[in-house]
Amino acid sequence: MVYTRTGFLKVSLSKGDKLYSTRRKPMLTLTEDTTRGVHDIIWSACDAERYRMQGYDGYHDNCTDNMHKLLREAPKENFPDFHITDDWVPDPLNLFMNVAIDHRGQLDIRVPTSEKGQFVVLKAESDLIIVTSSCPQDMAPVNGGQPTDCDHRRRRRVKVALSFDFDAVSHWLGTGCHPNNNMADYSSGIFAGQVGAVRLLTLLKKHGISDKVTWFSPGHTIETFPETARAVVDSGAEVGLHGYSHEGIYQMTEEQETEVLLKCIDAATKLVGKKPRRYRAPMYTIRESTVKLLRQYEFLYDSSLVHHDSQPYFTPADPPIKPIDFSQPASSWLQPTPIASQCYPEGMHALVEIPCGWYNEDMMLLQYLPHLANSNGYVSTRVRGSGSADFDFIFPILMHPDTSGMAHVIGMAERVVLWLKGWGEDVEFCTHEQIAGSWSKEKKNGKGGR
Ligand SMILES: [Zn+2]
Repeated sequence: MVYTRTGFLKVSLSKGDKLYSTRRKPMLTLTEDTTRGVHDIIWSACDAERYRMQGYDGYHDNCTDNMHKLLREAPKENFPDFHITDDWVPDPLNLFMNVAIDHRGQLDIRVPTSEKGQFVVLKAESDLIIVTSSCPQDMAPVNGGQPTDCDHRRRRRVKVALSFDFDAVSHWLGTGCHPNNNMADYSSGIFAGQVGAVRLLTLLKKHGISDKVTWFSPGHTIETFPETARAVVDSGAEVGLHGYSHEGIYQMTEEQETEVLLKCIDAATKLVGKKPRRYRAPMYTIRESTVKLLRQYEFLYDSSLVHHDSQPYFTPADPPIKPIDFSQPASSWLQPTPIASQCYPEGMHALVEIPCGWYNEDMMLLQYLPHLANSNGYVSTRVRGSGSADFDFIFPILMHPDTSGMAHVIGMAERVVLWLKGWGEDVEFCTHEQIAGSWSKEKKNGKGGR
């Protein structure tokens, strides 16, 4: 704290103040304080010797030893290589501690002015290792004679929306239909239904996140692989709709589209026991009539669009964008495209969009689909996401049992899960419904929309 004191030329801390390192770099900003603002930046951390000097017989718990113990016991896999000598403790920030200075410069420890439930919010200005200790001082009035545990939370910044499109045989029938599809192609779909999905379920169970993910299952998969579909439900996962035979929207008339949706609602209701409210369009092929249908059947969310890539928004009722007809005079297309609002739709069923698109998924990169121009299948599985962002966001990730269930890819799927978990409390796995439900409620309660 000495660099903070000398930088500020004061011995107290108020909202907006920054704490400085011994290299005079800002470390933390006090962004919120619900107390009267009495905190201390003068007093040293307590240690065993301090209590002995106060007359305590034997060993007394203390902040210095608390710090060394925590650093020694920090889990090695996500803790930086860091050493601190046993006999040293930094100049601490003593939150809620009331140290008065009288006119002769004398220090006097007094009872804290803060009350139960009050808190401060500190914003990190750089990467930091922060150790907090609930001071066990009970021989001076530091804690009013009643030391208590201090609650300390890190705000989760990233919601991981991990989903699985359980395409199996269906995608060879709908969007992937081709006259040259053969037994081997269909075989890879049977693999997904009988093997790939089971492997992924095992992986999710191993990492304790089975019930924090969403499986979008085509009706065809539910009815062709009933045991695996049941295992998905039994794992606690959320189940969403994904067409019946993975139909591309422009392969169908609007009448067929309605018939397919009703059949899928029926199949999923029989499987899950209640009417599904979750949807992702096969291969993201969605049109205005789909949005209308999802509103009509009161779906909570759709996850097929990317008006934003990492924030939910209300699915807009965009008018269809018409392609240019170059046989007409240029004046026929020289006009802007009207973009519909993505705010809460007054007087209409509010459908939430959880973004998802080609760049969030495994299949095009890691699976070879012989008749699909953009499929690859030969990229290294040593890939993973990286980097960080300075804002709260959702991270949509889409895997397919067809692709990520394969023996040479599933290791990558596990590394991705481990990498995400390695961010600790910053990251939280959520079902799409958890994200859509809480976001929608927040917006409806007056926080507006995008
Ligand atoms: Zn699909």
